[in-house]
Amino acid sequence: MERDVDIKKVVRQQAEMEQFFTGGFAIKGKTTSPSETQRKADNAVVAEAEAAAGLERIAEEVSQCRKCPLGSLRTNAVPGEGHPNARIMFVGEAPGADEDAQGRPFVGRAGRLLDKVIAACGLKRSDVFIGNILKCRPPENRDPAAEEIIGCLPYLQRQIEIINPEIIVALGAHATRTLLNTNKSIGQLRGQFHEYYAGLGRSPIKLMATYHTAYLLRNYSQENRQRVWEDMKKVLAELGLPIPEHGKK
Ligand code: URA
Repeated sequence: MERDVDIKKVVRQQAEMEQFFTGGFAIKGKTTSPSETQRKADNAVVAEAEAAAGLERIAEEVSQCRKCPLGSLRTNAVPGEGHPNARIMFVGEAPGADEDAQGRPFVGRAGRLLDKVIAACGLKRSDVFIGNILKCRPPENRDPAAEEIIGCLPYLQRQIEIINPEIIVALGAHATRTLLNTNKSIGQLRGQFHEYYAGLGRSPIKLMATYHTAYLLRNYSQENRQRVWEDMKKVLAELGLPIPEHGKK
């Protein structure tokens, strides 16, 4: 199946083949091999285009999906958006009214706070991928139902498979419990790295559980904001990214 193809592996194998024919074994002076930097840049462009196409196919399927009743209640499906090879992937619960209206994740109040968290990390929204457990809005923003999660989760699993992020940041109890398949409370789970099992033969992906920004808005204390910032500092440190001094929100 197409989605079983490990694009990074294919690109690496192709680079190794090229290296074999034009690199160490080339007749000096007769072949001009592109610089290693250029080759890596080319490979990254190919990998990004392949991943973007895969994500586009999933978004198209999501837009047609009628696996559960939410499919006929939505204004727009919200498949998720962001960098196709993001190192960090944020996963929330489900679209709300603003997201349903625009077809984009985290664009309401909770989204604006997530934007601040991302900016505090020294990153842009376009550097990361933002998705949800459910792709359609539950009426009155009620909690996702088990059968909705069961129907919708394969879309997210395929997105994770394609993006292959180094770290998933699970926002809130629903995302964390679903991805880790546990009933523990967010209080017990947040602030630590867990492992998300991406399937047989694939390495587990580190998952940081933190508070959902909607929860943070309802409980906007210095203590809670500091907790989220501590969680994000661990993510940045794990990725070897600089920790901005000012990032306190
Ligand atoms: N809350 C979520 O969990 N996801 C969104 O996209 C918006 C708000």
